[in-house]
Amino acid sequence: MLNVTLPDGKELHFESPVRVLDVAASIGAGLAKATLAAVVTTRDAQGQPSSHTIDATTLLPESGDITIKILTSRDPEALDMMRHSAAHIMARAVMRLFPKTQLAFGPTTENGFYYDFLTETPISEADFPKIEEEIKKIIKAGEPFERVEEPRDKALEILSGIGQTLKVEHLREGLGENETVSFYKQGEFIDLCRGPHIPTAKTIGAVKILSIAGAYWKGDANNQQLQRLYGTAFFKKEELEAYLTQLEEAKKRDHRLLGKQHELFAIDNEVGQGLILWLPKGTIVRKQLEAFLQEELTRRGYQMVMTPHIGRIELYKTSGHYPYYAESQFPPIDMGEHPSEKARLAAVKVEYPGDEAAFQAAAASVEKFLLKPMNCPHHIKIYEVKPRSYRDLPLRISEFGTVYRFEQSGELSGMVRVRGFTQDDAHIFCTPEQVAEEVRGCIEMTIYVLKTLGFSDYRVRLSFRDPANQAKYVGDPAAWDAAETAIERVTREMNLPNVSIGLGEAAFYGPKTDFIIRDCIGREWQLGTVQLDYQLASESRFNLSYTGADNKPHQPVIIHRAPFGSFERFVGILIEHFAAAFPLWLAPEQVRVLVVSDKFEEYAKRVEQQLREAGLRVGSDYRPEKIGAKIRDAQLSLVPYMLVIGGREVESETVSVRDRIDGDLGAMSVATLVEKMQEEIRERRLRQRK
Ligand SMILES: [Zn+2]
Ligand SMILES: [Zn+2]
Repeated sequence: MLNVTLPDGKELHFESPVRVLDVAASIGAGLAKATLAAVVTTRDAQGQPSSHTIDATTLLPESGDITIKILTSRDPEALDMMRHSAAHIMARAVMRLFPKTQLAFGPTTENGFYYDFLTETPISEADFPKIEEEIKKIIKAGEPFERVEEPRDKALEILSGIGQTLKVEHLREGLGENETVSFYKQGEFIDLCRGPHIPTAKTIGAVKILSIAGAYWKGDANNQQLQRLYGTAFFKKEELEAYLTQLEEAKKRDHRLLGKQHELFAIDNEVGQGLILWLPKGTIVRKQLEAFLQEELTRRGYQMVMTPHIGRIELYKTSGHYPYYAESQFPPIDMGEHPSEKARLAAVKVEYPGDEAAFQAAAASVEKFLLKPMNCPHHIKIYEVKPRSYRDLPLRISEFGTVYRFEQSGELSGMVRVRGFTQDDAHIFCTPEQVAEEVRGCIEMTIYVLKTLGFSDYRVRLSFRDPANQAKYVGDPAAWDAAETAIERVTREMNLPNVSIGLGEAAFYGPKTDFIIRDCIGREWQLGTVQLDYQLASESRFNLSYTGADNKPHQPVIIHRAPFGSFERFVGILIEHFAAAFPLWLAPEQVRVLVVSDKFEEYAKRVEQQLREAGLRVGSDYRPEKIGAKIRDAQLSLVPYMLVIGGREVESETVSVRDRIDGDLGAMSVATLVEKMQEEIRERRLRQRK
């Protein structure tokens, strides 16, 4: 007999073999109709659970105890699965229109899917409408996806028979271990695929082909060049419409374009890809953000420090960053390559001819450095400058610390994926008893900082241990228990919206809290990480301690946290969020003085001076242009306030104020304007065009 437990704890029993669909039908006909697949959890002899997603039509085990979560179009996992089915359908449509097409791989992406093809005649954008037409026909026919399992020999025969040589190669080389493999069939189309898939094409609401790009077979530039066709799919047509509108809006807000247009930042190939040059205007934005954070950090009892951009490799061996993360780092700076070190070693050979030991000793003293991939090891050294007692804790050390990581060039993107970046980093060294309060402080600060910048729509993700596999985590299990309970309690007490707990998602060294914000066009970004760490302070790493109230040594807990993540990525996101129209307190140019004619220049310059003395960032336009053109230019430059100065203003000792958002505000004295602007800045007011 098979015992099935549902997520709500309800139990069902089946005497004869059943499929997921039958389980759904026994609950209700409506559910059976909506069922797309199921996540099935089984336990092995040791009680270790393992979960996998299976088709709605797959037979369940005949006996035993399993847990089933039925997936419908409301579950996020189902969207991904449906999109993979849409990729099969797109491939099928392409095969119909481009006979002899070779299929490569067709996985899903964050927002859709792609499929790589090798066609006799290249696919172009002009072909998209007819491919989409064909896709519509296939969806309308509503044929089922059928899973077929075959032994390797038979599978090779099938693939050779239909001339899919890339798949044959993959089966031979990539799947060499598998004794049987699975195919998915839909009508005349068959594809080597692990699955799972939705039961029929009918549940796909809308498919759109988005773009085409070049790709190589298995991502290797020495292999055949393929074409990668990107698409997306949704369960409902309206969802596709909303997504396409969002894409349009995102294109307009692309920080790479706006950053260039408004001279915020630049990337120069001669300096290097992924290395940001902050232009004067971008630097103003960053410095304002730094000042804002600095103020908040001071208020919350953090102490600022500064540390070098490099450190000796031994430091990172102790921390474990080297060699474990060598792939994502720049290789070490080997001083053995330096002329003076080469000369020193050569001299040893001359002085002690044949003395291999002397030479080895000299060679071993050659230093190696690493570009700092993380600030933590440096901050730990600051903790270690003197003996610490429980009275010194919590010690909150913060730094706007620049780190370097080696991202693949294909991964680099404007300011959001870079090779050098400055984190708004901090490390809190505290006692286990202080963890809850410190985490609360970090969460409060993150929320405050994000809200100030207009990100009030966010969700919180807690990453905790896998309860079934506690052995893989470092640190005292009791400390983990206490920390996880405390973090969960803190988020509940703070009434945080949308808190989700990911069991098994914690890093091996500590539980984590992440903020996922939604920007004004609905895209999600992960920011504001608070990470607990039981490893770096441990005996096997830096072996940190403090003297407790009991006069005995104890190991502190380290918390890593960064509300923004990095200034580069955060400013990139901000540029898109505000479409470069920054609120007054961040605007590179806050006010621009415009003269109606050059007769009023002297008065205008006096006004400029008064504004500057009040600490405002002032620009001016004295070109012999019509005032209308000057206003338009200032408006396009996204300057929050424009001051028009003509005869009337000079006479009445006023300025005519134009607000970028509200338009004409009429004449006022400079003093009144300054007061109004300073208040808006002080309150860090967000005013967006409706
Ligand atoms: Zn597939
Ligand atoms: Zn850290």
